[in-house]
Amino acid sequence: MSDSSISVPAVKCCKKCGVEKSIAEFHRDASRKNGLYPYCKPCQNTCNAISAIIHRERKLARQAIYDSERREERRAYFANYRANNKEKVRASHAADYISHKDARLTKGAAYAATHREQRNANYHRYRSRKLGNGGSHTAQQILSLLEKQIGKCAFCKKDIRKGYEIDHITPLLRNGSNDISNLQLLCQSCNRRKSAKDPFEFAKQNGRLL
Ligand SMILES: [Zn+2]
Ligand SMILES: [Zn+2]
Repeated sequence: MSDSSISVPAVKCCKKCGVEKSIAEFHRDASRKNGLYPYCKPCQNTCNAISAIIHRERKLARQAIYDSERREERRAYFANYRANNKEKVRASHAADYISHKDARLTKGAAYAATHREQRNANYHRYRSRKLGNGGSHTAQQILSLLEKQIGKCAFCKKDIRKGYEIDHITPLLRNGSNDISNLQLLCQSCNRRKSAKDPFEFAKQNGRLL
């Protein structure tokens, strides 16, 4: 179709606003019979702006649906993978656990070592105060006592540097003081055997005179 075959009128009525305007007020459109858009330029611009907004919103909505479908797909994929590879997943968790184990143990042991004396001192202060026995000792005094006992159980002389229990020579329950002078360090088994027995009786049984 050549330009000469298109009959272009001088004015045109806009199909949108209904106002008759000069053809210069209309965009050209070669695909149409009269070579012009049916809407005037301002109406066309408004329409374009509105459709751009609609287009953008539809696109965002489609994207959101797509994303949530992918998310569901991914979730289903991993759930399915876990269900079909239970051993592999378990092994991988176990490997993780083992690879972190040393660090965990070191951290735990260091923490326990620095806090054990303090915790024991706090605990005995609490119990002694509750029983009204009086006396007190510090974590540092416990460590000195361990040195004084040359790192050995006061009864069986087993090495207790790696683990000892603080014993009240006269038990708190028998009105023994919480003072360092009433304390001795025992191995676990001696402490268990002594527990709340009369200290003189226990010492006699173990061949030791207090
Ligand atoms: Zn118009
Ligand atoms: Zn012992």
